[in-house]
Amino acid sequence: MTDQKVQSLIARMTVDEKIGQLVQKNSGSFSDSCVQAGGLGSVLNEIDVETQNRIQKIAMKESRLGIPVLFARDVIHGFRTIFPIPLAQAATWDPSLVEDGARVAATEAASSGIRWTFSPMVDVCRDPRWGRVSEGFGEDPLLASEMGAAMVRGYQGNDLRNKTAVAACVKHFAAYGWAEGGRDYNSANIPENDLYDVIFPPFQRCATEGALSFMPSFNDINGIPATGNEFLLKHVLRNEWNYQGILLSDWVSITQLVTHGYAEDGKDAALKAFNATVDMDMASPFYETYLKELLNEGKISIKEIDQAVARVLKVKFELGLFDNPYTNPSDFPKLLNEKNLETAKKTAVESAVLLKNENHTLPLNQKIKSIAIIGPLADAPHDQMGTWVMDGKKQNSITPLTSIQEKAKELGIKVSYERALTLSRSKEINNKDAVINAARNADVVLLFLGEESILSGESHCRADIDLPGAQEELAKLVAAQNKTVVAIIMAGRPLTFEKIIGECSSILFAWHQGTMAGPALADLLFGVESPSGKLPMTFPQHVGQIPIYYSHRNTGKPATNQSWEKMDDIQAEAPQLSIGNTSHYLDYGFEPMYPFGYGLSYTNFEYQNLKIENDLVSASDTLNVSVELRNTGSVDASEVAQLYIRDLVASRVQPMKVLKGFQKVFLKKGETKTLFFRIPVREFGFHNPEMKFVVEPGKFNLWIGGDSNATLMTTFDVK
Ligand code: BGC
Repeated sequence: MTDQKVQSLIARMTVDEKIGQLVQKNSGSFSDSCVQAGGLGSVLNEIDVETQNRIQKIAMKESRLGIPVLFARDVIHGFRTIFPIPLAQAATWDPSLVEDGARVAATEAASSGIRWTFSPMVDVCRDPRWGRVSEGFGEDPLLASEMGAAMVRGYQGNDLRNKTAVAACVKHFAAYGWAEGGRDYNSANIPENDLYDVIFPPFQRCATEGALSFMPSFNDINGIPATGNEFLLKHVLRNEWNYQGILLSDWVSITQLVTHGYAEDGKDAALKAFNATVDMDMASPFYETYLKELLNEGKISIKEIDQAVARVLKVKFELGLFDNPYTNPSDFPKLLNEKNLETAKKTAVESAVLLKNENHTLPLNQKIKSIAIIGPLADAPHDQMGTWVMDGKKQNSITPLTSIQEKAKELGIKVSYERALTLSRSKEINNKDAVINAARNADVVLLFLGEESILSGESHCRADIDLPGAQEELAKLVAAQNKTVVAIIMAGRPLTFEKIIGECSSILFAWHQGTMAGPALADLLFGVESPSGKLPMTFPQHVGQIPIYYSHRNTGKPATNQSWEKMDDIQAEAPQLSIGNTSHYLDYGFEPMYPFGYGLSYTNFEYQNLKIENDLVSASDTLNVSVELRNTGSVDASEVAQLYIRDLVASRVQPMKVLKGFQKVFLKKGETKTLFFRIPVREFGFHNPEMKFVVEPGKFNLWIGGDSNATLMTTFDVK
């Protein structure tokens, strides 16, 4: 039906009108007459509803064919109600919660006339120096797949014609997170098998989930910029996956084909992008300037133009824009309503990861009479929102300082506050005496460290991921006054903070959690909630260990704890072979600071009775696994059970562990639950040296546990 409508509309369009549909422009950068002439398919960053409705009226009433404009925006982790950054959302390991959050974001954005968001970003990334690591779901393909698909469902809802449905755009295809050295826009050099086995799965999953659009990445992949990369876009996305949605360039990424040195000029760039099946040009002038010329010269065909136009029009029909092109904000629930804030708070609660908790310092116990809140992020309403916040307002953020003060008041606890550093980067501690006094005179110090929001996000990469400025010095100063220091680290990426771990009794890694960071953290610190977040990335001890990730292959000379000698312990003039030959660093060994999947709780969990119902399976079977999980502590809490496998011998060496399933489950204290995992054996396959996807026969190990160091193991065989 939609296809028919699309085709009959295309039959009436002039070439100029067709090309107009392939053009997206930024707010304020086009004229009314362009809209009138049908020269514009989509607008990004116009969020004034009156202006949108005015533009839309010109498109609907004054253009020859009355084709609506599609308004787009980067709604990355919330619109006005800001949710935790996507990396933090991944730390919830709770896809249904992420879906709820995307639904909230879509509903708020749609009330401002936005029906297309450039999200989710599903770039698998193993380098926390990369600023955009904050926008994705971390290092693992399965976790990123589940989270990406959840966001797609949340944005698009179950009825695209519903006025709250917002088209998703899956980005950045592909390997953008593989930028060399973690420096944004840099080249990605990656073997094809890793593209297929590590990078592609989340994209493919989102395509299957029905995501209405895709965006190529800025970088070159093995020398070919994504926007002109026919292998990626045409061969993989269009042909292998039969993807029929809109492919939208990234911001002037068609222009950048010239800068890269891949296209001679604007015309050549337009040709290369178009040949790679990029349908719409975001913000560069080349489709509108050159597509007609290229058509007249016979370099591209009208059939190809029609296909691109059809993909754009189809989405406009599916979203119901032809029937309901205008926005009336009063038809929508209010921004920042109670339900939205509650969902944002729940996501923030579930995203925080407890990394250390010596002597059960947390939750704060009833004997505490005084708290010192110290640090540059305790009251930083702008920074707690994180990167890519276009429509959030810091006036709406509730900071940890505010929420802790409120809770403390209820409980009759005295609170003092010293910011100590003006910014996270500040090199000097302000009011040192006051900081010392505050720390000395409190039962516990809550030390809010981390990064400002500007230190992560697009092009905001860091070569050094230690706590910036004088934060280490601050932690040491505070710890010298008080032996109970709880560090709460608010950041846009994994950081290295090895030097302060010993100074703190507890460490809660809180990311940038958005509008409701304060209430969420207060609930966690005071034990209203137990932490349940788990790391979506491996945390290195030192930046020099990067890339460090859990699913690496075994070397021929793997290190063990006994196999190496620390640099400081090596004797003078030690003979070359006296300290062993294994794969490690003399200064940092071979282990991370915290493994992927790691996170503590206020209770303890025990895994037992791991069973595989059918331990001899074929590639077309489903593996049925069960395990008993018991909450052995004294607090009700949630745990993320993680299932990993290893294919022991293969024609291409397989990783030591790969995540193949996870479940977040709530258990009352003392409760035991049996968890069931049903995993198609096909999911244990990989691309062999001939680049064929295979599940090879042989032995596999299987683990279930609370992180990627899980030790409870069994085996199965594929025949
Ligand atoms: C980013 C995209 C974003 C686009 C539009 C680009 O710089 O790479 O992720 O969607 O801008 O704002």
